[in-house]
Formats: sequence, C-alpha cells, structure tokens
Amino acid sequence: MQYEPVIGLEVHAELATCSKMFCACPVVDPTQSEPNTAVCPVCAWMPGVLPVVNRQAVEMAMRVGLALECKIAPTSLFARKNYFYPDLPKGYQISQYEYPLAENGRLVIDTSKGERVIRIRRAHLEEDTGKLTHMQKNGESYSLVDLNRAGIPLLEIVTEPDMHSAEEVHAYATSLRALLRTLGVNSGDMEKGALRFEANVSIRPVGSQELGTRVEIKNLNSFKAMERAMLYAIEKQIRQLENGEKIDQETLGWDDLNGVTFSQRSKEEAHDYRYFPEPDLPPLVVEETWVEQVAASLPELPRARQQRFMKDYSLNFDEAAALAEDAVTAGYYEQTIKANPANPPRLAAIWLTGEVFAMLNQSGQNLTELALHLTPEHLAGLLSAVQSGKVNQNTGKTVLQEMLKSGKSADEIIQMQGLEQVSDGGQIAALVAKALAENPGEVEKFKAGKATVENWLFGQIMRAAGGKANPQVVKDELKRQLGER
Ligand code: ADP
Ligand code: MG
Ligand code: ZN
Repeated sequence: MQYEPVIGLEVHAELATCSKMFCACPVVDPTQSEPNTAVCPVCAWMPGVLPVVNRQAVEMAMRVGLALECKIAPTSLFARKNYFYPDLPKGYQISQYEYPLAENGRLVIDTSKGERVIRIRRAHLEEDTGKLTHMQKNGESYSLVDLNRAGIPLLEIVTEPDMHSAEEVHAYATSLRALLRTLGVNSGDMEKGALRFEANVSIRPVGSQELGTRVEIKNLNSFKAMERAMLYAIEKQIRQLENGEKIDQETLGWDDLNGVTFSQRSKEEAHDYRYFPEPDLPPLVVEETWVEQVAASLPELPRARQQRFMKDYSLNFDEAAALAEDAVTAGYYEQTIKANPANPPRLAAIWLTGEVFAMLNQSGQNLTELALHLTPEHLAGLLSAVQSGKVNQNTGKTVLQEMLKSGKSADEIIQMQGLEQVSDGGQIAALVAKALAENPGEVEKFKAGKATVENWLFGQIMRAAGGKANPQVVKDELKRQLGER
C-alpha cells in the first residue's frame, strides 16, 4: 500500500515588543539577562493584580495575520487555559481560544514540485511561560525558575493539515520565518526559543480523504531537526500500519542526538484545560481604520520580493531566494545596483551571494556590521572595476578582502597597490616570450604532444605578472607563440 503523509504545524513566535503582553516589564533576551530581573507583580502573578493588553503586541499580531491573508476579527476574546506547572505560577495561561484575532489565511510556498498553498487556520495571541532549569547537585535534583520569559507576548500560528512531505514542512517553516523577520515582529532565532515549531503528523492511504491518527512532535529546535523528525515519524507510522499495529495519539519529543522520538504524554494523559473567558480582560476590539492602517504599512513580503528580483534582475530562483529572504540583504543588494546602474544586476548577485556571503560565514559578522566597512557604493565600485576589465576576477577578490580591512574604495586600493590589470598586447607578448625562453624543456614536451604543458606555462606567466595580467589575452598570446615554435 502507498501512504501519503499529512502534516499540520503549530508555531509559537515570541513577538519582539518592548514590553510584555499584560504588564510594563521589558522583554529581555533570556540568555543575556540575570534570572528574574524583568519581573513585576503582574507577570509573577501576585494576588489582586490585573492584566492590561499590550497594543504593540496586538498590532504585530495583526501584521502577521494580514501578511498571511487572514481575516482579522473585529472582536476577539482572551480565555484562561488552566493547568499547573512550576513555570506558570498563576496556574493558568491567558490565551485566545474560541475567538482568535486572525483566521482563515494562507501562505504560498515553493517546492521542487511547484507552488503549494498552505492554509492558515488561525493566529492567536497568548503569553509565554517562565523557564525551568533542571539541576543535579550533591545527589539532589531540583529545578530553578526564571520568570523573565513569563508574560512575553506569543503569537500561535496554526495551519490546516496541508503539508504532505518533509520538504513541504521545510519550505513552510523557512518561508514563515522569513515573513516574520521581514515584518519585524520576531528574530527567527530557534535556538533561543524565540520561534518554536510543533508538528502534527499522520499518514493515510494515497487517495483517501480521511485523516489518520496523529502524533504531535515537540522540541524541533532547527530546520534540520524538523526535517529528520518528519522523515522518522512518517517511516515509523508506515511500519506500524504495515505490521498491523495501531497508532497511538500521543505527544512526542524529538531527541536530535539519537535521531529518535520519545513519548511525552499519551492521549489518556491529555490535559483538560477547562478554558473559560478571562474575566479580567474586556473583549479585544480592533477598529476597521486600525486594521486598514496596519495593512497599508506592510512591507514588501519575501516571496513577492523574490519574484520581483527574478523578473527585474534576471536572477535564478536560488539567487533571488538568497537575496530576498531578509530586508537587510535585499536592501544592500538593491543599493549596490542603484549605486552604479551600469553594472549588470546579476554580477552584483553573484558577488554578493558568493564572495561576500563567504566572508560573512568566515567572520561570523552579519551584513549590517559588514556594511560599515564595505558600503554598497564601494561594492558597486569594485564590480565596475571587474566589469570594465580594470582588474580580473581573482585580483577583484583580493581587492575585496583589502576593502573590508581598510574601508577604502576599490579604485584607491587598485591604484595604491598597483593592481590594475595588464591587457597591453606588447607587455603580455614579452611576458610570454620570456616564459618560453626560460623553459625550453617544457616547450619541447609540448611539441612532443604533452598538451598539459600549456596550462602549466599559463600559470607561470600569471605568477610572473603578479596575477594582474588579463588571463584571456595571456591565453591567446601563449597559444599563438606556442604555435610558432
Ligand atoms: P490541538 O489543539 O489539540 O493541538 P488541533 O485540532 O487544533 O489540535 O490541531 C492542531 C494541528 O494539528 C493543526 O495544525 C492541524 O492542522 C493538525 N492536525 C490535526 N489533525 C491532524 C491529523 N490527523 N494529521 C496531521 N495533522 C493534523
Ligand atoms: Mg497541539
Ligand atoms: Zn511584569
């Protein structure tokens, strides 16, 4: 029997607001702050405190909802989701439930099999919990609670079960992260837990429209882990059905080290959250004019930008994807093009995704930091030097390194270090003649039929010219002089 995987994703995105969801505490990076320093009676949930909704969080949630083509509810409601856990001192989480802020949207993704539409069921606001650190000391085990994270606004984005392969899950996850970053509402940092994915996975016979029993997989801390977990879960379910076993509806954790899932909780242990409307908060009302304002303020989204890059700048899919994914990279690229419209846009794309990205990888800098030393205008200057033949490709790479170190323009460096390409026929003819005269033995081998000698001689000549000779002129001249021998 042939099976089809069916996957739906639940995503929790911390919203990059200044303050928390229901109080004035600052939102701090949990890895950079002392525990329990961004906490007040509201987010520590002392008796008698009252929550107040953060307007910026609502606006960010609306930005995401609108970018995902959702309908924004004029009135939505907060509810209490009751459960006990030490990272949640008040015994319940405030979350939208029956009446979410945003519903019925879609995200279009690109896969190797073409375009796919993933329907968005809902996007709702809630608050994050605190963070537990489990300790082992002197034979004792205990847990430490940090409430800096408690009350940070979270947006939960839930899809319909519309994905049917690990590849589609990957495409959806990366597209969604790019979208959130472009909207400026989330860092996309999965390792720090600012963006968290949970996958619901089932399989069914190909052609069937019914949904099979699903498992829910948590702790997917990277795109790679997510892909591996999907393949693992799909294979396991196929094996179970083929062996005549029943699939249990359960919550699983992903153990990335060992490449396996482990059971966290079975259906029988599922919580009854006893949701009820939050009595301390009025319904969340967003006026139509506010929604319209937010809609009008949306930036160009990554996929639209990618398609524009392909069309306007003749880039291929991968080049455009790499440059359009985030606003900083896209901005840098377009500034480089604008700085000298005579340079081919494709040349700028190749240098940026090639040499410049490699430099970023090596140095661990981001593009904003790099741009302080290498401005788009300076990069454009280097590209004109390469394009016009003032320096060859290889020298261009050396110049780029030098530009980054010194912050100087390409022309200054080329001039100061005398790197200008030699294309002069007479000068090159002399270099070639000298090389042939110095290596009579090799020339004999060439005449005896050893063709590789030509490449070797080419290398000698380029070295003698300090890499500055025009390689094409050298090649032609070398061929000509060898032919005369
Ligand atoms: P819960 O609230 O218990 O997590 P939901 O019914 O709201 O469950 O679904 C959560 C996610 O699971 C959604 O993304 C949905 O598309 C997906 N999902 C639901 N049923 C299945 C199934 N049988 N197979 C795969 N995914 C599913
Ligand atoms: Mg769930
Ligand atoms: Zn607080």
